[in-house]
Amino acid sequence: MHRITILGATGSIGESTLDVIRRHSDRYAVHALTAHRQVAKLAASCIEFRPARAVVGTAEAARELEGLLRNAGVPTEVSHGEAALESVASDAGTDSVMAAIVGAAGLRPTLAAARAGKRVLLANKEALVMSGRIFMDAVREHGATLLPIDSEHNAIFQCLPADDPRYRAGVAKVVLTASGGPFRTRDPATLHDITPDQACAHPNWVMGRKISVDSATMMNKGLEVIEAHWLFGAPPERIEVLIHPQSIVHSMVAYMDGSVLAQLGNPDMRTPIAYGLAYPERIEAGVSPLDLALAGTLSFEKPEMARFPCLGLAFDALRVGGLAPAALNAANEVAVEAFLDGKIRFTDIARIVARVLEKAPQGVADSLGAVLEADTAAREAARAALGKLG
Ligand code: NDP
Ligand code: MG
Repeated sequence: MHRITILGATGSIGESTLDVIRRHSDRYAVHALTAHRQVAKLAASCIEFRPARAVVGTAEAARELEGLLRNAGVPTEVSHGEAALESVASDAGTDSVMAAIVGAAGLRPTLAAARAGKRVLLANKEALVMSGRIFMDAVREHGATLLPIDSEHNAIFQCLPADDPRYRAGVAKVVLTASGGPFRTRDPATLHDITPDQACAHPNWVMGRKISVDSATMMNKGLEVIEAHWLFGAPPERIEVLIHPQSIVHSMVAYMDGSVLAQLGNPDMRTPIAYGLAYPERIEAGVSPLDLALAGTLSFEKPEMARFPCLGLAFDALRVGGLAPAALNAANEVAVEAFLDGKIRFTDIARIVARVLEKAPQGVADSLGAVLEADTAAREAARAALGKLG
């Protein structure tokens, strides 16, 4: 049995992961499940999957979860807080860790899993954006296995046939596809009126609210450009973004000899999740088979940078390097939260991130302390910028 910890088990990726595991209960056992606030939902999953451990955000949530599990006769050990997250990500009882907490909160536990030499299934792109070098060094030094779950990076991973430097040397560029989100063709003059629910209504994917807003601004693709830089060692000029509204080609690798390899499939995160769980084998994921005749047309276009300023800001942060990507990510998290809370307009997200990046922290991202300090400073700067917007 392969034992799995799911960080962020109550989220969109967490649920899809449990769905794949449910289909293969002969091969996978759940070691630990974590959530932040959704106690009842976590309890239901604990009752079904019987993990040894469960973690929630606060002592109060932990007491509530304990009560629910006691009533159901489930002996799962409950704990709470950041240290507990790091513990379930690194303890001897788990083989693989699905890193699916949203945002910077996922950084420490994901890093703990890498440092413990686990097989890390990485959905939490923000962790890698913040601390790319530290994270990749930890993977190497501690013999962890890093499997990208983000669909684009999973596609690229599948198109680089083996983790062999000879393949990497022949790569001309990696091409990240993007759906363009819900506002790809909307009149830019009307973008300031968008509501949180409109921004979260993604045409092809069902995801958590933060990443849905990021998809609408295309900051998601920007974060993915930085993610691809770290995962595949690609410099910014060798990373291309191409809008592909059907979300069937999940990304591509162009080689020097003119070959382009692409991975295709219906837009369903259970495909990359199943790939990560079973790698290098393949297992059934519950995903309907791709019918290209039904899809009919696959189209591609270059992104309009004026429509999607966040994409340009992410490229800028990657070129500046050092602590700039951590600042970009933190400013974006604050701005997206403010937008979801109805405090700012959709178009203010890019303005706030740009303002924070103008004063981007200098320095190298060579320690977790430096990264977390840059994260805190950028959050403060973003909140100050929010205040000035009125
Ligand atoms: P969701 O918002 O659906 O789920 C987030 C999960 O993280 C929940 O389990 C939530 O717990 C938990 N969580 C939230 N805040 C904290 C915190 N402060 N401390 C600990 N746990 C916390 O997000 P998604 O599943 O959509 O995304 C998860 C990650 O995967 C993100 O980094 C995203 O970018 C990435 N990703 C997602 C894709 C998708 O299709 N959804 C595709 C590619 C990447 P609770 O429910 O209790 O609040
Ligand atoms: Mg993606």
